Amino acid sequence: MVSSTTLLKQDTKKPQKLPSIEEIKAAIPAHCFEKSLPKSLFFLVLDYVILYGCYLVLPYFEAYGWAGYITWCWVIGMFAASLFCIGHDCGHTTFSNYEWVNDLCGHIAHAPIMAPYWPWQKTHRQHHQYTSHITKDKGHPWVTEEDYEGKNFLEKHFAKFPISGLLRWNPIYTFLGLPDGSHFWPFSDLFTTTTERIKCAVSASAVFFCMGVAFYFCDYSITKWFWYYYMPCLWQGLWLVVITYMQHSHPEIEVYEDSQWNYMKGQVQTVDRTYGFGVDTLLHHITDGHVAHHMFFTRIPHYNLMEATEAIKGVLDQYPGAYRHETNYHVWFKYLWYNVRLEYLIGKGSGVLRYKLIGQEKKLH
Ligand SMILES: [Zn+2]
Ligand SMILES: [Zn+2]
Repeated sequence: MVSSTTLLKQDTKKPQKLPSIEEIKAAIPAHCFEKSLPKSLFFLVLDYVILYGCYLVLPYFEAYGWAGYITWCWVIGMFAASLFCIGHDCGHTTFSNYEWVNDLCGHIAHAPIMAPYWPWQKTHRQHHQYTSHITKDKGHPWVTEEDYEGKNFLEKHFAKFPISGLLRWNPIYTFLGLPDGSHFWPFSDLFTTTTERIKCAVSASAVFFCMGVAFYFCDYSITKWFWYYYMPCLWQGLWLVVITYMQHSHPEIEVYEDSQWNYMKGQVQTVDRTYGFGVDTLLHHITDGHVAHHMFFTRIPHYNLMEATEAIKGVLDQYPGAYRHETNYHVWFKYLWYNVRLEYLIGKGSGVLRYKLIGQEKKLH
């Protein structure tokens, strides 16, 4: 009888040699670390103009019935995800050198798409600080074989239903707080200080205010509000789920327990993916510049990510397997396939966990 843990140990590679963060930083041109408020504001305004344009062209899409409407949701969801990336920069303080500007613009970018700015800033920071740590990596719940066995049928297979992605960000993650805690409720497990609770109340109120403004623009019609405001927000959430899931999911990635985890090992588990068709540029390179973003999340603004990526590649390529990049024109299908294939991680207790893949023997109890 062979347990999955033993299997894992048998094919565990030798400890990978990695460069230090200082070595990588030294290779990146100094101007990549410069934050430009005018540039950041330009992209914030640009995304708003594009979103406004999406509403102007809505009738042309609706002329094609449901197919047209769903296509429109897919398009506006993507541009709303672009706007989300601007707020993401604000949360990382890469929008500008002024904290109050970052926080104000962060709320301007996030509140209208139902993202509570300060609470998510906190959980997202933990994701960067503890990337690929089995318990401390927030926002990307790692599921072990043991966790998986304890779930009911719906919990085990929910992510495999393509439509589930629409609900995973909002309301499941941010509102209901599964699994990290609600980002809307000041007394949820996420917050430990009074300041954090007040910040949660402010950010949540900003979202509710924007929901009200949208209701006004929908002529106080719940139906209009649902189809033309809430649904685009759900599609933005779906884009976000696809983007973040695909950056941290790969059959070969490793997840670490405390004994084996360190910052650099965690960061190189990130995958850069090129979606193609101009999407990467429209999404501010959150897709194909994510490794660079992950390593220097408080230092490099989105418009410098690709130049930094080239420099990082130059260093990481000297360490076999340290830089992962894929071109995925079919990223949506790959996302669906990974949700079916990468069910849970095996190797609990060994320090290093990997996905159990089809063909690998399951743990025998
Ligand atoms: Zn990430
Ligand atoms: Zn980030």
